[in-house]
Amino acid sequence: MQSTTNLSEADNIKVAVRVRPMFAHEADKGGTNVVHISSPSTVKVVVPGPAGTSMQRDFAFHACLGPDVGQGDVVHLCGVPQLLDAALAGYNVTIFAYGQTGSGKTYTMSGKEDVISDDAYAGDVTHDGIVTRAITHLFSAMEAKRNDTKYVVMASYLEIYNEGIYDLLNLKAKNLPVKWDAALGFFVPGLKQVTCSKVETMMEVIRTGMKHRHVGSHELNIESSRSHSIMTIFLHATPSDPNAADFGTPRIGKISFVDLAGSERLKDSKSEGAMLKETTNINKSLFVLGKVISALAERDSAGTSAHIPYRDSKLTKLLMDSLGGNALALMIACCSPASTAVEETLSTLSYATRAK
Ligand code: ADP
Ligand code: MG
Repeated sequence: MQSTTNLSEADNIKVAVRVRPMFAHEADKGGTNVVHISSPSTVKVVVPGPAGTSMQRDFAFHACLGPDVGQGDVVHLCGVPQLLDAALAGYNVTIFAYGQTGSGKTYTMSGKEDVISDDAYAGDVTHDGIVTRAITHLFSAMEAKRNDTKYVVMASYLEIYNEGIYDLLNLKAKNLPVKWDAALGFFVPGLKQVTCSKVETMMEVIRTGMKHRHVGSHELNIESSRSHSIMTIFLHATPSDPNAADFGTPRIGKISFVDLAGSERLKDSKSEGAMLKETTNINKSLFVLGKVISALAERDSAGTSAHIPYRDSKLTKLLMDSLGGNALALMIACCSPASTAVEETLSTLSYATRAK
């Protein structure tokens, strides 16, 4: 396990990279390992060139995690507990997974997709991802404060496909609108919110959402790798100790766990008609997200009041109050270690670099 990272810096957006183990089918196709973790905060990519030549590219991030880093260590090395505690204190937090399809986004966020969607799923200590571990952390932190704070916890789970919004907790709700409200900001009217007074209810929400993401994509004849999913936990904390200075003053925080659509560019031959529209929208969401995050990063470093184009996509509208301002965000850029995926890996690392 790596011991030190740069996660103590005060940036509002932190970026981590996670390189997954090589797949057998990548090695079978002659894939070699070209992505190396050179220090806890640097990653080196050896880009194969013509006639046996190669070129080295180095990238620096807040945390760089290699194939041997397990699910539990990812949570700690990326500073997830600190983000959760901030949300309990009233901050808005976003945790994203970015990367090409098959790079480990869903594994990192949730765990093994097929296992969690199963009705019999009861947790998996080895493979559970950030979301499940976060829930355990949140509920024990709330339990520890039960004598002086009253919490109300709610959860929602939606999917954005082709700039359309689908409620993963209610499959009948298709193509939901996004509305603006001066007090609420952007929100989705009619989106199901489940009150969760215990861990089990929240686990049920995850299971249902993951299952519906799968079933829904089948029904609509869409590929779930092209959709973004957002699971949101709303935390209302009311200090209940009458002797405390903040007695009765609620703190409202929220955490959005975002499993982004695959970042790969689709082949031109497929980009016709409906497929073209789909490709454009997905690229648009990821493109706008990139612009929003880099505008925020620039504003942080230059102290200027740059325009942040939140309104240019549904994804960034919905995340507007959880990105920027005093919100905290963590992006985990996921990649394959294989030479066969090196172009997509470089594109992922460049995108992630713009977010720092
Ligand atoms: P994505 O969501 O980016 O398309 P997945 O998370 O579904 O990719 O990962 C693809 C496959 O690789 C899944 O079977 C997943 O369980 C496995 N996998 C991904 N990352 C890891 C990892 N770090 N360790 C072990 N298996 C992994
Ligand atoms: Mg996935």
